[in-house]
Amino acid sequence: MHGLMQDSPLVIPMILRRAMTLGTGMNVVSAEPGGNVRQSWSEIGERSMRLGAALDTLGVARSASVASFAWNGHRHLELYYGVPNAERVLHTVNVRLHPDDLVYVVDHAGDAVMFVDASLTHLLAPIRSRLGVGAFVVMEDGGSIDPAFADDPRYEELLAASDPVEPSANDEMAAASICHTSGTTGRPRAVAYSHRSIVLHSMSELMVDSHAVRRGDIVLPLAPMFHVNGWGLPYAAGFAPASLVLAGSDTSPAAVGRLIAAERPTTMSGIPTMWAQLESTFVDRSVDTSSVERILCGGAEPPPALIEHYTDLGIDFFHGWGMTEMSPSGTGTWIRGGQASDERVTRQGFPTPTVELRVVGTDGSELERDGTSVGELQVRGPWVAAAYFDPGDDANEARFDDDWLRTGDLARIHDDGSMEIVDRRKDLVKSGGEWISSVELERELAAHPSILEAAVIAVPHEHWGERPLALVVPRDDTHVVAANVREFLHDRVAAWWIPDLILSVGALPKTGVGKVDKRQLRSEYGTADGRREPWS
Ligand code: ADP
Repeated sequence: MHGLMQDSPLVIPMILRRAMTLGTGMNVVSAEPGGNVRQSWSEIGERSMRLGAALDTLGVARSASVASFAWNGHRHLELYYGVPNAERVLHTVNVRLHPDDLVYVVDHAGDAVMFVDASLTHLLAPIRSRLGVGAFVVMEDGGSIDPAFADDPRYEELLAASDPVEPSANDEMAAASICHTSGTTGRPRAVAYSHRSIVLHSMSELMVDSHAVRRGDIVLPLAPMFHVNGWGLPYAAGFAPASLVLAGSDTSPAAVGRLIAAERPTTMSGIPTMWAQLESTFVDRSVDTSSVERILCGGAEPPPALIEHYTDLGIDFFHGWGMTEMSPSGTGTWIRGGQASDERVTRQGFPTPTVELRVVGTDGSELERDGTSVGELQVRGPWVAAAYFDPGDDANEARFDDDWLRTGDLARIHDDGSMEIVDRRKDLVKSGGEWISSVELERELAAHPSILEAAVIAVPHEHWGERPLALVVPRDDTHVVAANVREFLHDRVAAWWIPDLILSVGALPKTGVGKVDKRQLRSEYGTADGRREPWS
């Protein structure tokens, strides 16, 4: 017998309808050079429906992909809703990609049209003729428009000339958006999310053990909207509904501090480097950050000291793990404000309901959940990719094992079901036939009082095969002495893990989404042989 319940399609129009009808009194605030722009969810909804009609005017076919090249702001949010609701597919392009990668991803997704923030037009001007899109639309965000885009249609004019059309999307399996991975370990790969996967993922972010986005929250996502759908928060905020504060082009600690003081967010999201940069804003109380109750942190492992800085202030800290292929949310754990931390804070936590995890050994068999067996982490669930966007992508063979996605991360699962990342497979250091985890070594290095940030890469070694090289960024006004750091590590890691080479640097290179760029580090230092000077 079949169940006799209604088969409501899980489509993004469902989220928008809820935001428009239940979001009364809540705002979408966008920081722009001329001041903060404040809109209601109804206004956002109405404008997104005008955008749907504008896509018809521009001649963009149903199912065609529409690129956005934009900061976090209300026009980008209108694209998030307006494009999929009008049965087109939104492709959120990372504005920090190298020009050659930009050309690659736009071509790869086959974008028909591109919506560009005025303040970003200068980045596209030199490659405009290489981008095979049919039209550009300029979104006036208060930045200056590069002369190469002087004659392109303007977003506001298009919207003003269009009457709103009701969302027509009703096929939950249809593609809603495309995201490329941030390319930390290789060329960006594309994932195509469905309406259904986005709706289910957004609902999961309302769960208390997940991102805990609640009705009436004020959500300030620092995660860019071009990185995995802004971690789903622009949709989760619509679903709750909650207010959204969108930071625009200036995400410096000073600007974010001003935004926090003015808009009083209750919850914020960002990767560990962003939280490290904001630490002093929160700790020295130079601005009023007292509204922030909950912090969402993911994308890389946060050092325990960083977590403590926030929990000591009474803020609840969510440590989440995920990936582009997972929309991105996979696992997480809350470390409660004011609570003493224990060794478990470095775990990536428990899978969100419907997500399943397993670790698999080199022989392909599933390993025990005993907290010690380390293997490749594999995942499955309704918002996990079943294939890459490009049917010709070699990864379609390599990255899937029946219905499980092979994450490329090495992990152990503890007997309580919590997961702990050991390293990315590509970042492990193989020394004398044994593995050294760069993640663990970085965590211990960052615990040193004079070290602000640390990265570890493998460098070739005649005898051991590979040895770890540590690059460390000293805290302000401090000097890092390699011998002291080695001594500090003695009590914390096995002696053979301790890097022979510890180099003090001014800053670590970052990828477009702000993660430490190990590809860049490998190309700069990967052939270091110990004779390179100056080693500190
Ligand atoms: P890229 O692989 O190009 O960085 P993603 O942004 O999709 O693209 O990154 C996903 C990867 O980031 C994961 O596979 C994992 O290696 C790493 N990651 C994400 N969150 C965490 C975390 N909390 N701890 C450790 N690693 C993490």
